[in-house]
Amino acid sequence: MIKNKPRIVVSSCLCGENVRYDGKPVKDFLAKDLSKHVDIIGVCPEVSIGLPVPRDPIIVVRGEKDIKIVNPKTQEDFTDRLEEFSKTFIKNLKDIDGFLLKSKSPSCGVSGTKTYKNENGTGFLYRRYGIFAKNIKNLFKYYPAEDELRLKNPDRLLWFLFRIFTLSKIRSTEDIKELKEFHKKHKNLFSLLGKSFLKRAEKILSKEKDFKEIKDMYRENFLKSSYRLPSSKRTGKSLYKAFKEKTFSDIIPKPVLNIVEKRYREANKTLKKQAN
Ligand code: SF4
Repeated sequence: MIKNKPRIVVSSCLCGENVRYDGKPVKDFLAKDLSKHVDIIGVCPEVSIGLPVPRDPIIVVRGEKDIKIVNPKTQEDFTDRLEEFSKTFIKNLKDIDGFLLKSKSPSCGVSGTKTYKNENGTGFLYRRYGIFAKNIKNLFKYYPAEDELRLKNPDRLLWFLFRIFTLSKIRSTEDIKELKEFHKKHKNLFSLLGKSFLKRAEKILSKEKDFKEIKDMYRENFLKSSYRLPSSKRTGKSLYKAFKEKTFSDIIPKPVLNIVEKRYREANKTLKKQAN
């Protein structure tokens, strides 16, 4: 049993709920595989504003100041309702360590959502985010927020897990002594974040301030320093090598690391196939 599990928000359709516009299930098992080891808060913004299943697909359109969400068939505009739901839901979140959202969705997509010029769905412009994910990026800047497709990349999955498990451990420290011990214990692992993280962390931990303030600063430093995948140039080794050396095993529980190992095996098989 894991003490202080990470708490993550997950798109309901990735949790196996029948909420998609086409009424079809999503074939992805990551959320299910993680569910024993993390606390999941499921959400479907579209069903939460009262849309039925199945329903017409909706799209993201570039507006004058911001994105809009419309039904390209009828041009009905859902922007205000989705914006209001997203803001209220996200504002009320407490003790959250990350987000696992459905790729390409006009609501949940974190980076691969198609954006159009016209409300009838013509004039493809670029791929960006959906309206719910946009609000997450605004309120939870630098927090781990990924989609199931990006996490097919084992390096990205490993880093996402490292971040959410570390954040949950920082969150659960109760006094400065505990936070200092936590930092000392994982110093070696945190060297993957670069020397500047360690320098700033030590400066923060030596401050004579209220513990809550120190903890917030320490978490912020971690969030910013771990925002991007570390390059092997900076750390001197690839993430795969660090994974093989069991660098992450003090932070990420073994059954969760087994999920990553499976992803590395699948990725290696694909690479071998491509080379033949
Ligand atoms: S992607 Fe988001 S809005 Fe769409 S069905 Fe899944 S949870 Fe609902």
